[in-house]
Amino acid sequence: MPHQKTVALPILPGATLGVMGGGQLGRMFIHAAQSMGYTTAVLDPDANSPAGLVSHHHVQTDYLDADGLKELAQLCQAVTTEFENVPAQSLMALSKSCPVAPSAAAVAVAQDRRVEKARLAEIGKASGVVPVPYALIEKDMHVSLVDTIYLPGILKSATQGYDGKGQIKVTTKAQLAIAWAQLGKVPCVLELMVPLHEEFSVVLARGEDGRIVHFAPQRNVHINGILAATYAHESDLKPSDVKELVDAAKAIANSIKYVGVLCVEFFLLIDGSLVVNEIAPRPHNSGHYTLDACDVSQFELQVRALCRLPLPQPHQHSPAIMLNLLGDLWFKTNPNAAQTPPWEKVLALPGTHLHLYGKSEAKPGRKMGHLTITGSSLEAVQSTTQQAAKILGIDKY
Ligand code: ADP
Ligand code: MG
Repeated sequence: MPHQKTVALPILPGATLGVMGGGQLGRMFIHAAQSMGYTTAVLDPDANSPAGLVSHHHVQTDYLDADGLKELAQLCQAVTTEFENVPAQSLMALSKSCPVAPSAAAVAVAQDRRVEKARLAEIGKASGVVPVPYALIEKDMHVSLVDTIYLPGILKSATQGYDGKGQIKVTTKAQLAIAWAQLGKVPCVLELMVPLHEEFSVVLARGEDGRIVHFAPQRNVHINGILAATYAHESDLKPSDVKELVDAAKAIANSIKYVGVLCVEFFLLIDGSLVVNEIAPRPHNSGHYTLDACDVSQFELQVRALCRLPLPQPHQHSPAIMLNLLGDLWFKTNPNAAQTPPWEKVLALPGTHLHLYGKSEAKPGRKMGHLTITGSSLEAVQSTTQQAAKILGIDKY
């Protein structure tokens, strides 16, 4: 690894910014960085990664490849990440030669649900917003000994899960044993299944000086464990709930000395209580509406936090609904052959903002893009959303 460069702070446009991971979040980071005048670099093994396709530089290696990391470090004045499964040791190695935000230590918390939940439970003692009850399942013995207070529950693999992958619902201990075997007996957490009324997330940005700015909690609808829609800001949250969620998210960011954009997912239960679900050490799918409905997007905040530039408190200038565009939409007319959805009809509607991620192949469940709908009133946004969903064949959102 090259020696630590002397990087003048703040890092101003003209410098090169790197991102570990070439997915859609990396792509939108690259767009924000480039529009501010930065040169960009992506490290991702895939030749056709959404971010690699639009970046000035694409280091096409594995996330652990020493030469790839060296090349990225040489190219960049600062590096960020677009997903939590980038090995923490790679971020650690990069940080020896240039500023890295979020830090390897902060990303490591989000990489393992066991560490994450323990940390969230500890932080929640002060904020009052704790995770749902959970037990660790790491050995066969734990399956037989686990207390049935965690049932019915969801068995979740401790690492590598996303979009509901690596999760199995279980009602009995017999089902738990089968589910654990199905997940390959990897370390897991068993979480009590709780009755959800609504789901929320808070996206914030924290600077190295500890300043935090945030978007208001947005409401999220998941279908089959995948985000289907985000409503900003149309929900049953009371003003006191909004404050509780924002304060809880800030407490988490402060506790792990987070630098960058962080998303915290929450549940509002049927009994009115709030619980924290998980954190994402990066911009989040539920914050995509900020590109079109706010005066600063989550991706611009990621660039600013990374570069140690001022963080303005975001202001939302339009009500917004975001619909995720999953690969399923490409198979509405023919289940056997992908067809491009009728974008021209959707784009004829006022206030529609189409974002496609440049993925070469549509597959069911794959996030191909998103559509944000803005308008002068909530009613207008709801009505346009209804029309767009009908055109695209999105039944539930
Ligand atoms: P991922 O890492 O895939 O986002 P999550 O833990 O956030 O995994 O779970 C995905 C979704 O599954 C949640 O947004 C929520 O809709 C549902 N879910 C997860 N855990 C629970 C739970 N304990 N009780 C009820 N629903 C849950
Ligand atoms: Mg989640």
